Amino acid sequence: DLTSPELESEAELAFEGALRPKSLTEFVGQTKVRGQLELLLRAAAMQGRTPDHVLLAGPPGLGKTTLAMIVAHEGNRPLRMSSGPAIQHAGDLAAVLSSLVPGEVLFIDEIHRMARSAEEMLYLAMEDFRIDIMVGKGAGATSIPLELSPFTLVGATTRSGLLPNPLRDRFGFTAHLEFYDEPELEEVLRRAAALIDVDIDRDALAEIAGRCRGTPRIANRLLRRVRDYALVHGRRADITTVREALDLYDVDALGLDRLDRSVVETILTRFDGGPVGLNTLAVSVGEEADTIESVVEPFLVRVGLLTRTPRGRIATPEAWRHFGLQRRPGGLF
Ligand code: ATP
Repeated sequence: DLTSPELESEAELAFEGALRPKSLTEFVGQTKVRGQLELLLRAAAMQGRTPDHVLLAGPPGLGKTTLAMIVAHEGNRPLRMSSGPAIQHAGDLAAVLSSLVPGEVLFIDEIHRMARSAEEMLYLAMEDFRIDIMVGKGAGATSIPLELSPFTLVGATTRSGLLPNPLRDRFGFTAHLEFYDEPELEEVLRRAAALIDVDIDRDALAEIAGRCRGTPRIANRLLRRVRDYALVHGRRADITTVREALDLYDVDALGLDRLDRSVVETILTRFDGGPVGLNTLAVSVGEEADTIESVVEPFLVRVGLLTRTPRGRIATPEAWRHFGLQRRPGGLF
């Protein structure tokens, strides 16, 4: 799905690598977070210590990995990348932590999916740069303390709410990444177009910016499809080319992806517009409640298709219009 915010393939990863901003000044948007991070990094540099641990929270594709790389790059520090699902035992984490070099930045993506036992090890590591390694079993088990090199942990999560408080509290700073507005996305696209050498009109960039789900990853992906379309048809990347290319790939006017559409359509057609509870909705759509709450809903709320109320989720009049549907006569509203 062209408008899914998740990473699609190895090829896309390579493409993203080429477009990734390497410094805070190159990083577009998220002004607040950028300012906060800059202060944190500069203070640490002035005091000659490792920067505080940073938690990056927000939907996929908004730049969490990019920011982790920037934290390492700006401080001229090596970067180690890992992820929650790869850390299923405390031993997995011990292996990573004990091999860090002084000042290294450790990036753990999807940190909320790490094993509980590893989480507990991480508390001590973050606080004291030390872990206790258990040796032996049962009554004869002993723990051996191990000193670690000072490091900076950058954790990324789509759900900071899922992190246990003791873990959340050990981050010096939590950055909440927001969806990008259209001028920011145009800037992301302008930068990417220059890097991949696509000559594209301003209004064409604006058209893509309006249809990329507020997400730089999707913006860059759509730009790539538009480039292909222009190339194959021997055309300039103007607004007509953009519209034709995006229509060909079924990218709708709001940039909704398949799951977004399925959530809204389910509320409209199966629950007559709502209200419907999150769990019921998740079962009907066949998706995890967590994904719906952390990835889908924030965007649907932002574009005005959904409201969250204490009684459940409700589709807005705009949602009925967007899907060309009408409420059953005699419905609740
Ligand atoms: P996930 O955790 O789901 O993989 P993410 O939040 O880590 O997503 P990134 O991989 O950092 O997202 O970003 C995706 C792509 O979007 C990057 O290749 C980068 O080129 C682009 N991008 C993200 N944020 C920005 C930005 N602020 N300015 C320019 N490009 C950006």
